[in-house]
Amino acid sequence: MWGMDERAAEDGARESHPLRFRTVFLDRDGVINRKPAAGEYVADWAEFALLPGVPQAIVRMNAAGLRVFVVTNQRGIARGLVQESAVREIHRRMVEVLAALGARIDGVYVCPHDEGECDCRKPAPGLFRQAQRDVPGVDFAESVVVGDSWTDMEAGNAIGAATIRIEPDSEAARATSETARVGLRVDAVVGSLAEAAEWILRLRDA
Ligand SMILES: [Mg+2]
Ligand SMILES: [Zn+2]
Repeated sequence: MWGMDERAAEDGARESHPLRFRTVFLDRDGVINRKPAAGEYVADWAEFALLPGVPQAIVRMNAAGLRVFVVTNQRGIARGLVQESAVREIHRRMVEVLAALGARIDGVYVCPHDEGECDCRKPAPGLFRQAQRDVPGVDFAESVVVGDSWTDMEAGNAIGAATIRIEPDSEAARATSETARVGLRVDAVVGSLAEAAEWILRLRDA
C-alpha cells in the first residue's frame, strides 16, 4: 500500500462503495501474468507467466464469496500479431491451471479490436457489461476493478466501481505516475494482486 493514509483510503471507499464487494474485475497482463514489453503481446501459452501469489489471491477472494472476472484488451489480434484462437487457448489453459490450484475464474472477456472501433476496448465499459449480461446479480456499485493501467482506472470510474492500481515498481515510480493523472479516482495503489486481495478483504471484514 502506498501514498494515501490507509485509514483515509478506507473511509473514502466507505463513502461511495458498500462495505461488501461482490465482484472483482481483473485486468490480465501485469495483474495475473507478467506484462509483455510495450507493443508486444502474449501470443502463446509458453509466454504466459503467472505472477507470484496470483492463484492464492484468487482462492482467497473466491472463499470470501467474490465473483472474479478477467477483462482484457488484446489489440494484438486486430493488428494481426496474435491469433484469436491462440488467445482463446491461452485463456482456456489459464483457467485450467488456476482451477487446478483451487482458484475459480467466473468469466474471461476479451476486446480483440484496435482503438476507436468498438465499445468494448477499455476504458469503454463493453467487457464489464458482457459479464453483467452473462452472470445475474453483477452490480458495478459492488465491484472493484484491479489493473495496472490508467485505462483500467478510467473504466472503473466510468462504471462506478472501486479501483485498485497495481504498481509493482518502486515508490518513486508510483509517485510519478500518481501525479501524472489527476482527475482519475484510484481507491488504492498496491504492488501485487495479493495486496489488492488483502485490501478488498479487509474492507469486506470491516
Ligand atoms: Mg494490464
Ligand atoms: Zn472491442
